[in-house]
Amino acid sequence: MEVAVVGAGTMGMGIAQVSAMAGHITRLFDPKEGAVSKALSKIRSSLEQMQSKGKISVSEVEAAMERLRPVNTLDELSTSSLVIEAILEDLEMKRELFGQLDRLCASDSILATNTSSLMVTSVAASCTLPGRVVGMHFFNPAPLMPLVEIIPALQTNQQTVDRSIDLMRSWGKVPVVVKDTPGFIVNRLARPFYGESLRMLEEGVADEVTIDHALRTMGGFRMGPFELMDLIGNDVNYAVTETVWKQMYFDPRYRPSIIQKRMSEAGYFGRKSGRGYYDYSEGSVKANPSGDEKLWIIIFNRVISMLVNEAAEACYLRIASREELDLAMTKGVNYPHGLLKWGDTIGLPQILDTLVGLQDMTGDMRYRPSVLLRRLAAEGKGFYTD
Ligand code: NAD
Repeated sequence: MEVAVVGAGTMGMGIAQVSAMAGHITRLFDPKEGAVSKALSKIRSSLEQMQSKGKISVSEVEAAMERLRPVNTLDELSTSSLVIEAILEDLEMKRELFGQLDRLCASDSILATNTSSLMVTSVAASCTLPGRVVGMHFFNPAPLMPLVEIIPALQTNQQTVDRSIDLMRSWGKVPVVVKDTPGFIVNRLARPFYGESLRMLEEGVADEVTIDHALRTMGGFRMGPFELMDLIGNDVNYAVTETVWKQMYFDPRYRPSIIQKRMSEAGYFGRKSGRGYYDYSEGSVKANPSGDEKLWIIIFNRVISMLVNEAAEACYLRIASREELDLAMTKGVNYPHGLLKWGDTIGLPQILDTLVGLQDMTGDMRYRPSVLLRRLAAEGKGFYTD
């Protein structure tokens, strides 16, 4: 089976690498001068790094590289059974591309978008055969992160979904099916990790170093929210937050933070610009976190309660199954536990208490508990236990 990837940037090159490693002739197209050759040399470096760690052999590196075929025109993708789009996050651009692919590709081919925040239904609507359009949301870096969110548009047929799931499993990925809703699973459920941390910074509860330290120490997260925002880029993270908030009709649960907007406006993007919440210049030293363990508990309780509440709401609204909601957070963003399971372990009454306390104190609807959380806590049940 032949695969095509359109857009040879960060995600496109990673997806092309995965596809070639899975044994497919993989055509790669990008109209930007030199983009494809740059992507191919980065893929080679990535494969050679895997080989130096003993994960693959020299001949596997060469075989994967041989399967990667740069193309100069979209027409050359017409023989592909699966086309994965990874171009800029711009709805009109994507709709135009899908209109072209719809005319070019065989009627039984799958046309997939790797969009993080646009509605797959809207992309599919640009095609005459929208039943074959689906969201295939990979995570960065695509060769390393196992999760792929499979997002059927309203128009997508079941056969496209089933084929997409089977194919992703054959690539060694962990597919989860999620409704075409803002942020899908990961970009929705993870919002409070940043949002509540920014809120505490705004309120002066603690500084960035202490919040990061508390969440790493008490929660077992690999990185604290400020370290992670600096890695993702404060511009990118702000844009995702604002998009989800707008698409949720300005629900206060997803309200962005002014701090984050200012960081983005100032060009303090994080690691990539040398300055974000932390200073990445040569010789700079990080401040020490507060040693107050009671403060660490307050920080962790606020963030985990908001995260579990978000997962509960997504479960209540049947965005995905409870198992898939949990799997997505461990396989897509390396959370130490699925959020619903984590809620059960902590105890839903405690989560509810924290949320009700915050809502009473602030009057802010961002803290309103999910109906499902309230109901299960009242019945003495958990997400997984009766
Ligand atoms: P990027 O800017 O690194 O790469 C985009 C590439 O698309 C560029 O090389 C550009 O030349 C090319 N391009 C632009 N218009 C094109 C067109 N009409 N036809 C073909 N190629 C075109 O972007 P990225 O970070 O790889 O993101 C690509 C997509 O993946 C976006 O939709 C983004 O939301 C999504 N995504 C990104 C991440 C991430 O962490 N970067 C994660 C998941 C999904």
